[in-house]
Amino acid sequence: MFRLRWDTNFIRIILIVIITVLIYSSFLSGRGIFAVAKLKAIDLFYGISHLIKPRQANLDKIVIISIDELSLKTMNKNWPWERYMFGLLIDKLQKYKPKLICFDFAFIGQSENKQNDLLFAKSMKEAGNAIIASNFDSRARYILPAKVLSDAALAYGFVNKPRDRDYYVRRARVFFFSKERRIIDLSFELKTICNYFDIGLSNILYNPATNAIRIPHNKRIQGDINFSIRQDGTIPINYHAKYREFNVIPFGKVLKDEFREDAFKDKIVLVSLTSEISHDAYNTPIGVLPGVVIIANELLMFLNNDFIREIPFWIDFLILMFIILLVAIVVYRVSALKGFIFSVIIILLFIGTSIYLSFRNYWADYFSVILFTSITYLGISIKKYIQLMIESVQLKTQAVTDGLTGLFVQRYFQIRIASEFTRAVRYSLDLSLIMIDVDHFKNINDTYGHQQGDLVLKSLGEILQKNSRRSDVLVRYGGEEFCVILLHASQEHTLVYAEKLRKAVEDFDFKLINDPQKTLRVTISVGVASLAETQAKTAEELIKFADTALYESKETGRNRISVYKS
Ligand code: GH3
Ligand code: MG
Ligand code: MG
Repeated sequence: MFRLRWDTNFIRIILIVIITVLIYSSFLSGRGIFAVAKLKAIDLFYGISHLIKPRQANLDKIVIISIDELSLKTMNKNWPWERYMFGLLIDKLQKYKPKLICFDFAFIGQSENKQNDLLFAKSMKEAGNAIIASNFDSRARYILPAKVLSDAALAYGFVNKPRDRDYYVRRARVFFFSKERRIIDLSFELKTICNYFDIGLSNILYNPATNAIRIPHNKRIQGDINFSIRQDGTIPINYHAKYREFNVIPFGKVLKDEFREDAFKDKIVLVSLTSEISHDAYNTPIGVLPGVVIIANELLMFLNNDFIREIPFWIDFLILMFIILLVAIVVYRVSALKGFIFSVIIILLFIGTSIYLSFRNYWADYFSVILFTSITYLGISIKKYIQLMIESVQLKTQAVTDGLTGLFVQRYFQIRIASEFTRAVRYSLDLSLIMIDVDHFKNINDTYGHQQGDLVLKSLGEILQKNSRRSDVLVRYGGEEFCVILLHASQEHTLVYAEKLRKAVEDFDFKLINDPQKTLRVTISVGVASLAETQAKTAEELIKFADTALYESKETGRNRISVYKS
């Protein structure tokens, strides 16, 4: 496509890109706003992939019994209900042969009336398919259900929902580890799934080295279940369905037998409080959901063997580095428009790939690539633009300055004296012109060589600059002739200035190139013409008058100053 030229500018840009991506990936991408943006990008692409193809297999295996506003009202009982009520529910449901009845409640501590617990426990024991909740408190202490209940239940598991930095629930904790990384317990959902598939807990194979979990197939599961947990025992939740998409039967209707005969047969029945009074609502990528719907989505993920795989950090990093280097190289090499088109194409291709990856259940760092492609394009374009501006200014400066002395060239002088003359006449300002010619300059060239002559001219330029104001326009008029336009300077002031210059040159020790120990003396002749005194009609006239004065200085013995008088 094009050949790379490894000029310093290019290498610098590549280095900056590499260092920025390194710093970003190792320190910033996991923090603060960057971490949140990364999660939101994942949500976005995941959402799009679900819009394209909803995946809701096995939705019919779960039934939610919701204790909603209406149920509470019809029961006419204050929440929390006495526990025997749940016993009644179990007794009632058994007839309809549910596979499991899972209570999303932590029945902590004993009831005031012990009879309540005993009745509930009796029902659970008889049914043999009830699962209840436990939980870890904020200090990681494991809070278990009342002993009489946990003994009667088929199983219990924790229902903690870890939240991300933006308080969204995107992950489920399936294992809770102790500080020594012993497994303390499994989640409510995993226990439910194990009991649903008749998997003994000892059949869950956990490899601490790779954090991979394998549940081998049995009569009830077709293939092995494989997924990986993070160090903290969590996995991403693959959200499939919202509240309304599940089969939800209000508690009130269950008690009044308002459901189909086969509504519960072989199902996982989730019992949960969804009334507003529970405050059990969470932000999730698919909207605000009651806790039980998050549980239901987790169960679906296991039922469908449809886990999200997280692309490892280092692969994210390599992809980011590769794409950004490519963008940097191309944008640096091609025109602004082509660079823009290229960056947009890269971003569009990447968005397409991101949606595809989301579709295939991958979580990757989609945000960083898009962010850095934009930053790289903008950064390099701005840098190129600034460089162009600097170069054009440099070019302009070069065009009006003399290479040897750094003073203005005659072409510039002609333009400047014309404009300054017009302005001075219009506003009655002082304007003076000084013409300078080096005395017997030919001798210097002849005696010491042309190079020495050049060095003297260069030094003269420096003496002029050192003894002048910023407003003085210093010009190398040609050869060994100089002139100075003095703005707002009277003849009197100009004479003082001219004398200062003459003396400075006369006293200056010009170094000899061939013999640095020895020095050389040079003098100048000066002609002065001021607008007020000469009454010059044009700029050309003023130049001519200054020239005439200079000629007079030469005529009358050199190393002196003459003023033009009309
Ligand atoms: P004077 O002005 O006092 O009458 O004597 P002069 O020797 O300076 O005479 P003139 O002005 O006629 O000579 C100018 C000389 O300056 C001629 C040329 O060789 C030399 N010269 C002009 N431009 C340059 C330059 O860029 N470098 C060097 N080394 N010499 C230059
Ligand atoms: Mg001359
Ligand atoms: Mg001369």
